[in-house]
Amino acid sequence: RKGSVMITGASSGLGLATAKALAETGKWHVIMACRDFLKAERAAKSAGIAKDNYTVMHLDLASLDSVRQFVDNFRRSGRPLDVLVCNAAVYLPTAKEPTFTADGFELSVGTNHLGHFLLSRLMMEDLKQSDYPSKRLIIVGSITGNTNTLAGNVPPKAYLGDMRGLVGGLNGLNSSAMVDGGEFDGAKAYKDSKVCNMLTMQEFHRRYHEETGITFASLYPGCIATTGLFREHIPLFRILFPPFQKYITKGFVSEEESGKRLAQVVSDPTLTKSGVYWSWNKDSANFENQLSQEASDVEKARKVWELSEKLVGLA
Ligand code: NDP
Repeated sequence: RKGSVMITGASSGLGLATAKALAETGKWHVIMACRDFLKAERAAKSAGIAKDNYTVMHLDLASLDSVRQFVDNFRRSGRPLDVLVCNAAVYLPTAKEPTFTADGFELSVGTNHLGHFLLSRLMMEDLKQSDYPSKRLIIVGSITGNTNTLAGNVPPKAYLGDMRGLVGGLNGLNSSAMVDGGEFDGAKAYKDSKVCNMLTMQEFHRRYHEETGITFASLYPGCIATTGLFREHIPLFRILFPPFQKYITKGFVSEEESGKRLAQVVSDPTLTKSGVYWSWNKDSANFENQLSQEASDVEKARKVWELSEKLVGLA
């Protein structure tokens, strides 16, 4: 049978390019888990994805109810789940004030981390039941969360600190909206959410890899300077960022190329190693990258896991 892969945020950018790359092989059925049903349908159509190679299902990661509803709907569809890709994200670099999810969590960490945390925890049951030979759970990371790289050192840097904001629920009322308890900073909140993503992947690996054989992986797909991720940025930034990445940092990758990279992490038979953070060199060859100290801190990973469990109602 075809493999069944679920991709969150497949209505644009990396998620859409990955859906297209996988669908085109004829070996995958893609479940596009998206907050805007019509946009996702249109995106699939204009990307030329054949009708019987995808299904759009509604998922709003900024609402825990929506996540639970989505899981119920998916189970009722009777489809197996072989690979889950947590790809969706919001980035609010110019926001002056925090905004919040339906459950009152700061929007970037609430969507990018907590929504995906609940989704992937619930979906573990489905992954376990699949009889597919190579089952995987992939969480898209980012270099911006790695303070051991040049790009990861552009301020404001990711920093989770003692996580007092996460303990308090990131609600901006009786706790800070930021994980480390500091002043709100939209760019930092995004980077923090990506560190949480990478820590979560490693904690999954430690808790479940041996028992289930599932491959847990994260990746940095390259700088895809043209995606909607930068839609909230100031206009001048949006004009200058793609050529800057292309000619100065040379970190630029097209959406198509980044989609091929993520598709490789989904399906390549040689990429089954678990607990790994994949990156690509200038010749587009994959290699196992090092995570920053904070993004590979075992204690922090456990703490993020336990605090997140409480916030999403699993503990
Ligand atoms: P896009 O903005 O193009 O894609 C993000 C997707 O997430 C969109 O489909 C968006 O939906 C979806 N999304 C946002 N909020 C929600 C929500 N509440 N519920 C469900 N879906 C939601 O950005 P990219 O393709 O660039 O980003 C994809 C991933 O790649 C992210 O994890 C990002 O951190 C990562 N990344 C990107 C890099 C880059 O340079 N662009 C570099 C490194 C990592 P909608 O279409 O409805 O807006």
